[in-house]
Amino acid sequence: DQVTTTLPVETYLRRVHRTFSGLKDGAVADYIPPLAAADPEPFGICVVTVDGQVYAVGDSDAPFTIQSISKPFTYALALADRGLPEVRRRIGVEPSGDAFNSISLDSAGRPRNPMINAGAIAAAGLVDGGESGDPAERLVESLGVWAGRRLEVDEEVFAAEQETGHRNRAIGHMLRAVGSLDGDPERALDVYFRACSVEVTCRDLAVMAATLAGRGLNPLTGARAVPDALVTQVLSVMTTCGMYDAAGEWLVNVGIPAKSGVGGGVIGVMPGQLGVAVFSPRLDAVGNSVRGVAVFNQLARDLRLHFVNTG
Ligand code: GLU
Repeated sequence: DQVTTTLPVETYLRRVHRTFSGLKDGAVADYIPPLAAADPEPFGICVVTVDGQVYAVGDSDAPFTIQSISKPFTYALALADRGLPEVRRRIGVEPSGDAFNSISLDSAGRPRNPMINAGAIAAAGLVDGGESGDPAERLVESLGVWAGRRLEVDEEVFAAEQETGHRNRAIGHMLRAVGSLDGDPERALDVYFRACSVEVTCRDLAVMAATLAGRGLNPLTGARAVPDALVTQVLSVMTTCGMYDAAGEWLVNVGIPAKSGVGGGVIGVMPGQLGVAVFSPRLDAVGNSVRGVAVFNQLARDLRLHFVNTG
């Protein structure tokens, strides 16, 4: 371990990339045609520090959709727009133990947390329209502040999400029925589907993660993406709920707040220090990138990322 950590960062990352590039387990998401047709091979690793150093290896600039990695950032914007008390009243913070897309609520009638679809759709419904009156556009803009560049929606993925999103639509209407959503559920669903369909690169995701690590300040642009005081809330739910049904396993093995998406991205945040992103589209049985999980396990060992650092 000590040997690897004294290597220059990029050399070290290149070595990790080489180690796991032969890993071909898992399969790309296939619930919509554009994801099923994705090239399974691209593999990028990117680390961005809170003082703005960027280390990128492999396919760090290949585009893919952010999918569920949008959820912590949607939650952050809902918190910024509505304040903690209102958001807490409507969305819980307990790990669910159910599938990410389950149609269920807690005993208070709220979505269990903002990292499952129900909580993310409720959060999407709390995003303000701002000047344009269009909350989806405002969320896409906000994601761009986190990433340090203007991001765009992949319209093909968005259309497919819209067309096949019956389960999410069921969740939206359930939320409306119990009062977790006001107004037309289609409005929140539009925000949610668009957020999932935003096109990013591994580099973008690492900058977004580094912005979380820097308590909301983008290390490349200096722009503030979210008020400082809300970051703890976001990182906490990522810690307990960020990795689908492997959140516990992740916490034991890696030990940092994280979020994955079915597009193949995974982000991890070392508060006060750095953000990491891995992109590789083949997913394991719970929906996490196989190489992504493998890389983070390796980095956690070599760089001692785990928050309980017992040496
Ligand atoms: N658009 C996907 C859904 O709502 C997100 C999947 C994911 O990344 O978890 O089903």
